[in-house]
Amino acid sequence: MKSLSIWEKQTSYAPADVLIIGAGLMGLWTALELKKSRPALRITLVERNSTPLGASTRNAGFACFGSPTELLSDIQTMGEQAMLDLAGMRWQGIQKIRAHFPDAVIGYDPCGGYECINDMDAGELDDKLNYLNQLLLNITSEQAVFQRVDERMPALGLCAFNHLVANRTEAALHSGMLVEQLSAMALSKGIRILYGLTATRFEKTTAGYTLFVDDTISLTAKQLVCCTNAFTNELLQEPVISPGRGQIILTSPIPNLPMQGTFHFDEGFYYWRHLGDRILLGGGRNIDFAGEETHSLEGSAIIREALTAFLRQHLHPSIAFTVEQSWSGIMGFTGNKKPFTGFTPAGPYAAIACNGMGVALTPIIAETVATDILNHF
Ligand SMILES: Cc1cc2nc3c(=O)[nH]c(=O)nc-3n(C[C@H](O)[C@H](O)[C@H](O)COP(=O)(O)OP(=O)(O)OC[C@H]3O[C@@H](n4cnc5c(N)ncnc54)[C@H](O)[C@@H]3O)c2cc1C
Repeated sequence: MKSLSIWEKQTSYAPADVLIIGAGLMGLWTALELKKSRPALRITLVERNSTPLGASTRNAGFACFGSPTELLSDIQTMGEQAMLDLAGMRWQGIQKIRAHFPDAVIGYDPCGGYECINDMDAGELDDKLNYLNQLLLNITSEQAVFQRVDERMPALGLCAFNHLVANRTEAALHSGMLVEQLSAMALSKGIRILYGLTATRFEKTTAGYTLFVDDTISLTAKQLVCCTNAFTNELLQEPVISPGRGQIILTSPIPNLPMQGTFHFDEGFYYWRHLGDRILLGGGRNIDFAGEETHSLEGSAIIREALTAFLRQHLHPSIAFTVEQSWSGIMGFTGNKKPFTGFTPAGPYAAIACNGMGVALTPIIAETVATDILNHF
């Protein structure tokens, strides 16, 4: 163990009331929610990278509560009420993000969204949209969240899709700016964030927990919260969380890009949006589920090529582009597509696994986490 100076012991590494591992969206919102409920709490976040590195700064920046085929698939997996509960949380989460930050500082763009659909005829699709619109009315107060607008496809530069469904409540934001703003807000409220420290193991003590970071420093706290998402099983055996790599490509600038908005296809397995005059496109995990169940950030050429081919197939041939950048991030998945929150068999609390849609979920899940943790003080 490294010997700490008295200064370090009394500041950066001082005992905390709550230690949070992971400074992604979940960790940051959790810290802020705890501080809001109890301003005197001493809260320290431990993040192993120089900036959060998992999903929060690597995603596509959709502020969405779900596309039609994704919501329908969720009903199959988890039932109607559970789908509605999650969609409702995402809807509230978007409002909460906007209540915290002016649109300009998080790059919030109320551009509206679309889903492209190929495997349904118009009548069947309209019936399903009516059904979803009825269900979602109580959440959004919008009479018709989803509307079939096939005629808009040419003007958006899209081709080789049968149908287009618009969702005018959907939006996009800048994920890096959101994380930066949340981190700055946390620091301004006296929350400590220690970057570059890996939590390697913990011990339960009579006073709470001792957390060992990089095997050189130990930190103590009354409560320990893992917001470690896909990496949770490095520290905790349960619950079991599967990693899922998401890969993204970004095109060159496209002069007069006609496509504005966020777009989904195939239950959310493909998603794209305009980013200024470029197109950001991600997904394709369903091409190779087994290969993408990995913690490695190194992307795969197979998926990158499939994403590029998808774009060439569905963008009007007159729209020329090259792929200028690509990156990947790691999501955390549960078997039932529901996030996990709760105390784990080993003791620490875990708030993890937004199953690939955490931008709008994390602000609301953090409220549950704060309530649960404060009930244990
Ligand atoms: C490619 C991609 C596209 C996505 N697109 C969208 C989208 O458009 N809209 C949407 O809503 N959601 C999207 N998501 C999902 C969304 O980004 C996540 O649900 C959300 O960011 C999860 O936040 P988190 O804080 O739980 O996890 P993470 O952001 O992964 O944060 C976990 C943090 O814990 C840290 N950590 C882990 N282990 C340790 C340890 N032992 N010690 C110290 N630190 C540790 C990691 O370094 C990491 O920073 C996407 C995800 C990906 C990968």
